[in-house]
Amino acid sequence: MKNQYIICVLIILILLIVGFPAYFFLSKGDVGNINSYKKNIAVTIFPIYDITKNIAGDKLNVNLILPVGTSAHTFDPKPSDIALLEHSVVVIKVGTGLDDWVEKIVPRKVTRVDLTSSVNLLKSTEVEYDPHYWLSVDNALLIANKVKNELVKIDPENSEYYENNLLKYKEELLDLQKYIESELIDQKGKGIITFHDAFIYFAIENELEILTTIEPFAGKEPTPKYLSEVEDIIRVKKVKVLFKEPQLSSGLLNGLANDLGITILTIDPLGGGKETNSYIKMMKFNTNEIKKGLEL
Ligand SMILES: [Zn+2]
Repeated sequence: MKNQYIICVLIILILLIVGFPAYFFLSKGDVGNINSYKKNIAVTIFPIYDITKNIAGDKLNVNLILPVGTSAHTFDPKPSDIALLEHSVVVIKVGTGLDDWVEKIVPRKVTRVDLTSSVNLLKSTEVEYDPHYWLSVDNALLIANKVKNELVKIDPENSEYYENNLLKYKEELLDLQKYIESELIDQKGKGIITFHDAFIYFAIENELEILTTIEPFAGKEPTPKYLSEVEDIIRVKKVKVLFKEPQLSSGLLNGLANDLGITILTIDPLGGGKETNSYIKMMKFNTNEIKKGLEL
């Protein structure tokens, strides 16, 4: 009897020692982890994912769907991505056609939250609205607000917690806005050439001009005729820098930059990389690179 008692105690101890770290490991809320202790939320792209995490704090488990480093324009989800969504109560979408691929993998029971009706949208020539609205800090403030409202709906018990997180995060976004304004104050009216047409909201908010883009359709190589028009703009406007993006292959930029003797820098509309692993860091990174490029 005594031996059995000792064995029981030992088994319980082992379970506690092994189980507790496993519990904490699982509840970290890392990208792609389903958490069985908290409600799960899925978000299509990194900037919105990061904003959502700032509001959700440690009360909800937030998962990112579009892998970091992948373009939202060319992504094709695999059936295995469904697992991530099956346990989610809500999926937060950019909308405006940018992340319609998510519909292929979201089960019907999951509530869709489309952010388009909560932000200020710009008309676009290619699609009805330009989907890159998160690159305006004014819109990030509206997104944070909308996300807070949705989280309160999912988890009303913690509504005060989400309200407080929103207030704190809004302060950070307003600081970010001041930072961008002061860094770009001497660049107003200047023109940049971006890789695809992601930065119109950013340009308008900071009184910059987008002269043209290298790829008029993200992920599709431009025609030689189109590229020669870009070269003309570079010459006429005396452009000294071209901006590539981590999500899109930019091999053709090297030839262009070599021929014309111009510099290539990187700006990142989606973030999640080493220097862009939060919405705020991503926006600061882009601000600094654009400033660097315009001061060449
Ligand atoms: Zn884009």
